[in-house]
Amino acid sequence: VKILVINAGSSSVKYTVIESDTNESVLTGAVSDIGQPGSVADHVEAFAKVLDSVGDVSAIAGVGHRVVHGGERFVQPVVITTEVENHISTLSALAPLHNPANLAGIRAARAVLPGIPQVAVFDTAFHSTLGPQAHTMAIPQELAKPLGIRKYGFHGTSHGYVSRIASEMLGGNPTEHRVITLHLGNGSSVAAVKGGVCIDTSMGFTPLAGLVMGTRPGDVDPSVITHLLRTTELSLDDVDDLLNTGSGLLALAGTHDFREVTSRALAGDASASLALDVWAWRIHHYIGAYTALLGGLDALVFTGGIGENSAVGRTMATADLTFMGIDLDDVANAVVSSEPRVISSPGTSVTVMVIPTNEELEIARQSAQVLTRAR
Ligand code: ADP
Repeated sequence: VKILVINAGSSSVKYTVIESDTNESVLTGAVSDIGQPGSVADHVEAFAKVLDSVGDVSAIAGVGHRVVHGGERFVQPVVITTEVENHISTLSALAPLHNPANLAGIRAARAVLPGIPQVAVFDTAFHSTLGPQAHTMAIPQELAKPLGIRKYGFHGTSHGYVSRIASEMLGGNPTEHRVITLHLGNGSSVAAVKGGVCIDTSMGFTPLAGLVMGTRPGDVDPSVITHLLRTTELSLDDVDDLLNTGSGLLALAGTHDFREVTSRALAGDASASLALDVWAWRIHHYIGAYTALLGGLDALVFTGGIGENSAVGRTMATADLTFMGIDLDDVANAVVSSEPRVISSPGTSVTVMVIPTNEELEIARQSAQVLTRAR
């Protein structure tokens, strides 16, 4: 059967048709220039264009939608009902940049294709297994609880997908595998996965926390924010903007594009070099922390635009970790490929892998599963 996967974002609707029996992507594309990201009418227009290129919809067994925030309730993919839509809408407060567009995409698709079942797959779901010691923020709980303030984590579909493939590549007993997955793209996060279950991840209440990203700083002392508000002319919205779109590699190196940062650093640009050092230091910090939480490490996985493509990035991210069994084979690391592969030196205790992520395929797989169960 075919599953149509929809990723309705604020500036575009990406779509992929996947043959779920063979896991093959038979069609993929994007409609850009959505007028109002949260407008159902604009998404109906975009969805009509998606269907134009899909053509015959009679073979589509279901539509799988990417939804960024599932809150505390959606820990599994669900068949979408009006009640589910309404709950996704209430979660918009937690993900104002993403959930409204995801929801408009869902409402449009359900209006245009009322006869086809639709499934929501949540970016947060893979992290719902975090224990309270991992997801509780140490602030007064009478404030945190009613506002839903806790660690949720994001990129879960990607971490789930690549950790499963890593486990298959490792062989042996999957319930014993200790895996760290590094999703490094414009947005970046890392997850600690024990026996297939996520036990911690670096993004938090929102996708701002954790690693240094293209335009986000990742972890910062929270008092930096109060200090900025107290001592500068910046408003709350200015600071919010600065943290979401004006920090990270962009702030340190003058560009958010990792390729550009590395080429500037190679050409002797000191600020680009510093940006890479800060970026790699933070990754080391998480590799150490998560190895401790996992009680050891069997595999370290690179994915995302940087993780899949930048040999320099992977080298910097793992430099001087031979003492803990992490050592790259320079020849294997330099290989350019879109296939899952091992890049560690033979005989080292940690298998380092590059596994291209495929969130669309994972959404299709999960949607097909939910629909089979619902039938
Ligand atoms: P997003 O988080 O928006 O999905 P991607 O996963 O596509 O982003 O990652 C984008 C990042 O990947 C950019 O910083 C880009 O420079 C980097 N990247 C893409 N291709 C390469 C490459 N061949 N070499 C190094 N970096 C790359």
